[in-house]
Amino acid sequence: MATVTKETGFVRYACIRQKLPREIVMLRGTGCKWRRCRFCDYHLDASTDTEANYRLNKQVLSYVTGRYGILEVINSGSFTDLDEKSMQAIIDTCHARAIRQVHIEFHWMDRLQVAPLKERFAGWGIELWAKMGVETFDIPFRKSYLDKGIDTPSSSPTPEDIACYADEVNLLMGLPGQSTESMLEDLHIALSLFKRVCVNVMTANSAPIQPDQRVILRCRTFVLPAYRDNPRVDILTDNSDWGLGEELPPGEVARSEG
Ligand code: SF4
Repeated sequence: MATVTKETGFVRYACIRQKLPREIVMLRGTGCKWRRCRFCDYHLDASTDTEANYRLNKQVLSYVTGRYGILEVINSGSFTDLDEKSMQAIIDTCHARAIRQVHIEFHWMDRLQVAPLKERFAGWGIELWAKMGVETFDIPFRKSYLDKGIDTPSSSPTPEDIACYADEVNLLMGLPGQSTESMLEDLHIALSLFKRVCVNVMTANSAPIQPDQRVILRCRTFVLPAYRDNPRVDILTDNSDWGLGEELPPGEVARSEG
């Protein structure tokens, strides 16, 4: 298990102004417990020093103003990787800034912890939306190629099973082997069962699976145009589209907001 892999150094606060305007923070936890997805390397933003994580997260949360009444919290993993003091700091920040809706991310393995967290937030008058990284509803692809950690050798949750826990899903497009039809089918299923969808177009990183530019072209040409103005669909064509993740001098967590 890795210990500290990266200190602050990233933009960790931003505002999303389109579709569902909200503030977004990228907090740091102990790290994704799965770490096996063959397309991912962003689980490297983690530290086993929970006190240092809390200090960092508290600093990041201090940038939140409540201007939109909605906050999205990501942490390069699942919300269960955040320490308890950071979780309470999220609640306290929302309470202080009159934020009434929070979006968090989780891995399928943590699904049973979603309902208790929703209850906890509801106790503070905050509606919690849980977003799950599904990437695709094509089970063999997700299971054998992506190694997403949702499927076991003997069973796979249906989209309806996933909808019992998730309000929103992340989809990943632009991978070798994806077809126009499979990408359209993923969006069709996602929009029929979930409140919102975030489409991430694959970008190059250090993971074994790398983007396929021909698939990306098909995605941009035949899939995404119909959804560009859909208020329920966020489209990220680059990891930094929301303004997070850019490297900063040590100690800084945000660019100044106008
Ligand atoms: S995609 Fe999510 S679950 Fe998979 S290794 Fe990366 S952080 Fe972990």
